[in-house]
Amino acid sequence: MAFCISCGQMQVDGTRFCRFCGGQQPGDQLIARLRMEAEAIRFHLQQLQAQQAQQMQQFGQQQQNQGNRW
Ligand SMILES: [Zn+2]
Repeated sequence: MAFCISCGQMQVDGTRFCRFCGGQQPGDQLIARLRMEAEAIRFHLQQLQAQQAQQMQQFGQQQQNQGNRW
């Protein structure tokens, strides 16, 4: 199942041109490339989130230490 990249209507798999708006649909190679880019972005986001979680943990520990001192 695929969706038109210009109008969003549902397309039959393997369609070259949208039957609603006539827009050309991406080929398998383009889709594969987009998928790889999406994977890379998701990986990058996961790393960012992991970093943020680590920083939050460190921040929480610092606050705890300060709490013990007082
Ligand atoms: Zn379309």
